[in-house]
Amino acid sequence: MSEFKVIGVIGAGQMGSGIAQLAAVAGSDVYLLDKDTQALQTAKASISNSLQRFISKSQLSKEVGMKALARLNYTSNVEDLRFADIVIEAIVENEDVKKKLFAELDKIVKGSAILASNTSSISITRLATATKRPQQVIGMHFMNPPPIMKLVEIIRGADTSDETFDATKRLAQRFGKTVVCSKDYSGFIVNRILMPMINEAFHALYTGVATKEDIDAGMKLGTNQPMGPLELADFIGLDICLSILKVLHAGLGDAKYVPCPLLVQYVDAGRVGRKRGIGVYNYL
Ligand code: NAD
Repeated sequence: MSEFKVIGVIGAGQMGSGIAQLAAVAGSDVYLLDKDTQALQTAKASISNSLQRFISKSQLSKEVGMKALARLNYTSNVEDLRFADIVIEAIVENEDVKKKLFAELDKIVKGSAILASNTSSISITRLATATKRPQQVIGMHFMNPPPIMKLVEIIRGADTSDETFDATKRLAQRFGKTVVCSKDYSGFIVNRILMPMINEAFHALYTGVATKEDIDAGMKLGTNQPMGPLELADFIGLDICLSILKVLHAGLGDAKYVPCPLLVQYVDAGRVGRKRGIGVYNYL
């Protein structure tokens, strides 16, 4: 393997742990970083369980799974990323926090390294302004859960170079993904279309059109989707959905993106979905 021997992943939550797993299975040495050591422990356990599931379903050989586990390093020290060929950021969906991290990474990682963001909606062009290497900053948007979902959306910022785009595309393909390319407008392709649907489902619930079960069953069976929109929102995280809708509204200016008050209220109440055991549905 000539490129991307060492991959840094920042944020060991739902997305970062899955991306780290993909990178290790694809043969890179991986440094998974989180500021929260508990998140690192949880990620370690969940990656191990996920690899075991792939092995037990014969979708992965035991040898590859074991080698992947051995290639994974868990850290809270950003200096450990200094040898990374690419760093894929998957921290909280907040522009200021991401920019602060990109500015810090820019000073630490080698000059040739690519800085990629798994952001669902935030402008890659603006994230790139926090660095002195805007030509090497790109959006690499995985779907949830990364080891299973087939798509990676690649987003070129205003200054992203062809070399960075081509190398990032090759990496996504090495992970076994199909790539679609989006221009850098809020929400890119997938969330620009998905989030208004989820928001509308909350409006349907909020205004009493139907029960949550009927809204989900209607969309699942009526439009042949594997999950209903409310169930999917719980899976993504209601906090993430709310952040994306705010970015869509701020970036595109259309009132149709204003988050439904019920979605806002659930997030205010801490009912953010499966990851907390309660969202639209109760998982406890
Ligand atoms: P999550 O809440 O599960 O995990 C985020 C992790 O980042 C946490 O473990 C947290 O401790 C860590 N973190 C936060 N700030 C940090 C910092 N400054 N330095 C180091 N670690 C930090 O979130 P998630 O669902 O994995 O989402 C992460 C990113 O991926 C977001 O940008 C989100 O929009 C995007 N995304 C999410 C989904 C989804 O379905 N959840 C899908 C595609 C993309």
